[in-house]
Amino acid sequence: MLLFDIRTALSKAVQVDGTLEADDAVWQDGDARPAASVQVTGRLSPAGHGTLYLSGHLAGDAHAECRRCLADIAVPVADDVQLVFAEADAEGADDPDVYPLDPQAGSLDLRPAIREQWLLAVPAYALCREDCKGLCSTCGANLNEGPCRCERTPDPRWAALSKLGTQGTDRS
Ligand SMILES: [Zn+2]
Ligand SMILES: [Zn+2]
Repeated sequence: MLLFDIRTALSKAVQVDGTLEADDAVWQDGDARPAASVQVTGRLSPAGHGTLYLSGHLAGDAHAECRRCLADIAVPVADDVQLVFAEADAEGADDPDVYPLDPQAGSLDLRPAIREQWLLAVPAYALCREDCKGLCSTCGANLNEGPCRCERTPDPRWAALSKLGTQGTDRS
């Protein structure tokens, strides 16, 4: 559960133990969603007038694409989060890192904040494995599945041309 009664949380710390599912309405188009769900654990504590503090942990698998071979992969993501939620008149409420707390709403929905923290925690670049060989730049074959024809039977004429074409470039 990621919905908390604000008055209760402002009077005593409450345990946070919930999940944000991959099909939750809080996700937006283009988000790196979890493969299944984000597990959220921690504590939501009162931190002075009109302010709540979340000390917690996120964990889950993110959908990603290997940047070398473009395979769909699941990348484990785990991160600690420390978040502050403050009413508009609380000290420090104008800090851009502080999430707004609306006492009129009655309850605090952690999902938008968890979504943001998850997106920050997902790595921008992923590899299916450290030694992924990627795709052949000539024929597009997945070199993890073995060498492609370009490498096995180089046509001497093309080899001479490609040698000219790659001169002066990085041939890693
Ligand atoms: Zn790969
Ligand atoms: Zn090839």
